[in-house]
Amino acid sequence: MIRPLTQLVNLQSPLSLNDYISEGGYQGASKALHDYSPKQVLDLVGDSGLKGRGGAGFPTGMKWSCVPMFEADDDNAPAFKYLVANADEMEPGTFKDRYLLEGAPHQLVEAMIIAAYTIAANRGYIFLRGEYHLAGKRLQQAINEAYQQNWLGKNIQGTNFSFDLYVHTSAGRYICGEETALINALEGRRANPRAKPPFPQISGLFGQPTVVNNVETLCNLPHIVKQGADWFKALSPNSDSGTKIYAACGRVKSPGLWELPMGTTIREILYQHAGGMAGGFKLRGLLPGGASTDFLLPEHLDTPMDFDSIAKVGSRLGTGGLIVLDDKNCPVAMVLNLMRFFAQESCGFCTPCRDGTPWAVEVLTRIEQGTGRKEDLDTLYNLCDFMWLGKTHCALAPGAVEPLKSALRYFSDEFEQHIDNGCCSYQQDNIVNKS
Ligand code: NAD
Repeated sequence: MIRPLTQLVNLQSPLSLNDYISEGGYQGASKALHDYSPKQVLDLVGDSGLKGRGGAGFPTGMKWSCVPMFEADDDNAPAFKYLVANADEMEPGTFKDRYLLEGAPHQLVEAMIIAAYTIAANRGYIFLRGEYHLAGKRLQQAINEAYQQNWLGKNIQGTNFSFDLYVHTSAGRYICGEETALINALEGRRANPRAKPPFPQISGLFGQPTVVNNVETLCNLPHIVKQGADWFKALSPNSDSGTKIYAACGRVKSPGLWELPMGTTIREILYQHAGGMAGGFKLRGLLPGGASTDFLLPEHLDTPMDFDSIAKVGSRLGTGGLIVLDDKNCPVAMVLNLMRFFAQESCGFCTPCRDGTPWAVEVLTRIEQGTGRKEDLDTLYNLCDFMWLGKTHCALAPGAVEPLKSALRYFSDEFEQHIDNGCCSYQQDNIVNKS
């Protein structure tokens, strides 16, 4: 099986620049800089069908095509254009970018050179999750090596292209992963999301054109440039190109992550790669792509994990990190645990999110503790509507609602039993509630 993103990952000791080069590294950047114009790389990435791997799945070529381009002597050209790698990975159940950052830092540096060349960015930032200390150390080491050998800095490898790259460590909020909150944080402001449009491609960091791409998305670029768009498309059996780093956590035999063809079925990920359910536990449901996605059920096991197929069964691919719910874990407690996270991480800017998420926590706590009332279910349904897309400033509250509304749909008996019986029958064995 071809695993372009992870084949050079070494978590114990990532490749130095020289070793990375001897394994074929920087060939993609060299090819882009010497053989292709920025427009040709843009077309190549567009043709490859690469879509954002951070969760939203927006086509990368389309995102880049929104960046205004200028001739070298154009007086209207901005002094700076920015490229930002979104490495603020904080979605629960998601640790794929950490793997790439710690295990193959030069792959990201090479990818950022290609992306920056394409959109004519002259300054780049890796916006890194605050807790990713080891990744930060290794990225800085890779950046230093890249400067020493002129893969970063002025006139890279004898071309007219110059690019500076910095690591910026987040102060540590989930909302900083939202691209416009991230930009505010980079500017030293409070990390509230901005209204879109204007999209950052037009007016981003310090008001200049800015592209924000997820780490996994970027890491595909050296391989696409080296091997071509058709090669990339052929990695996947269906319409979404490439590979995807999937993960699984919860009571499975072998939690972990695996780079597989985009569109691998949930069943294969769970039973072949994660080894199936741990002894004594049955699969009850799962969140397919981190905490801000809708629950799926065992009947969905044969669904391919790609953007369209997962949408067709009522959820989202998100980050591709499966969070598994077993038969001995209380669904109400699991949703409560997730909602606590979202309430804590709300930036507080808009009313539905600021007031809605803690309100949902209050109601879910009551139900989970056995003091819930029948009307509480109506309140939860109303909250799902109150916090939905179009009524909030960003995607945080709608994301928080996804596990809640799907749990109300699929596990309504559980909610009702908690209220009718005045207790939770899972109290003996509830790891989620204790965490
Ligand atoms: P979004 O759909 O608003 O935007 C996705 C990207 O596409 C952005 O870069 C945006 O600029 C671009 N875009 C969207 N519409 C565009 C248009 N019309 N023209 C040009 N560009 C356009 O989604 P979002 O709010 O940025 O992200 C939400 C996703 O983030 C969720 O799917 C969630 O799963 C995911 N997420 C991931 C993590 C993580 O740790 N990886 C954490 C939280 C959330």
